[in-house]
Amino acid sequence: MRTKTQRAYKRLLHEYSLGFGLRTPYQILVDAEFCKEAAKQKLDINVEFEKTFQDQTRHFITECSVQELRRHNQGSFEAQQIAKQFERRRCPHTHAPIASTDCVAQVVGPTNEYNYIIASQDEALREKLRAIPGIPMVYVKAHMVVMEHMSTATKRLLEEKEAEKKGLSTREKNQVSKMLHSGEELPKKKKKVKGPNPLSVKKKKKSTPPLPKKKKNEASPIANVEKKRKHEEEDVEQKKNNEEQQEQSVTKPDLKEKTEDNIPKDGEQKKKRRRRKKTKHDKEEVKQEDQNEL
Ligand SMILES: [Zn+2]
Repeated sequence: MRTKTQRAYKRLLHEYSLGFGLRTPYQILVDAEFCKEAAKQKLDINVEFEKTFQDQTRHFITECSVQELRRHNQGSFEAQQIAKQFERRRCPHTHAPIASTDCVAQVVGPTNEYNYIIASQDEALREKLRAIPGIPMVYVKAHMVVMEHMSTATKRLLEEKEAEKKGLSTREKNQVSKMLHSGEELPKKKKKVKGPNPLSVKKKKKSTPPLPKKKKNEASPIANVEKKRKHEEEDVEQKKNNEEQQEQSVTKPDLKEKTEDNIPKDGEQKKKRRRRKKTKHDKEEVKQEDQNEL
C-alpha cells in the first residue's frame, strides 16, 4: 500500500523526469551528515530509499565525505558502516580532501549534469543547491527519509518550459511572421529549388507553352492596335496624298481654263478668219455687184 506521501514523491519524481531528464536507477549522492543522522536514528538506508523512491536506485558517496567521517571521528561506527555500503564517487580532492558538503556541491556542479538526487542533512548545502533547478533532495526526519518540495528555481524553470511548450504555436507564429517579413527572399529560394527538379521543369514546360501563347494572345491585341494605328496613319497619309492630288487636279483645271480661255481666243481667231472670210465674201460680193453694175 502506497501512502499519500509516496504517491506525492512518485509524482514529484515524474515531474523531475519530465522536466530535467531524471532517469532510473536514480543516482543518490549522500553526504557525511546524512550518514551520521541515519546512524543516529538507526535507519536502514536501503529500505528507506526504496520507500521514498519506489524504484531502482544507486547510492554514491564522495571520497571527501568518507574521509570526513573517518578523520574527525564524528561519525559513529554505524555511520561509517552506512557509508561503506555506498559506491565511491570519485572527486578531485583525493589528495587534499575538503568538507563533505563542499565536495558534494562541486560534484553536482552548476547544472547537476549527472542528475544526482542529493541526500544531505546539511541545511546550508540544501539551501545552496535549491538555487540550481532540477535537483531532488532528501533528508532524514522523524525516522524517515523525506523528500523536499520543489524549489522555487525548479518550479520557475518548469513553468518556463511549460510556457515554451504551450508557446510553440506562438514561436511558430513568430517564425511565420519572420518568414513573412523575409518572405520576398524565401519564395525566390523556393523558385530556385523548384528549378532543378526535372518533373517540375517538365510541368512548367507544359504549363509555360500555353502561357506564351496567352502572352502572344495578350500581346496580339496590342499588335493589332498598333497595326490599326499604322493602318489609320497610312490611311491618313493616303487621304493626305489624295487631297494633295485633288488639289493638284483642282489647280490643273485652272490651267485648262486658261487653255480654254486661249481656246476662245482661237475662236476669236476663227471669228476673225470668218470676218476675213466675210470680208472676202463681202469683197467678192462687192466685186460681183460691181461687175453686175458694170
Ligand atoms: Zn571531494
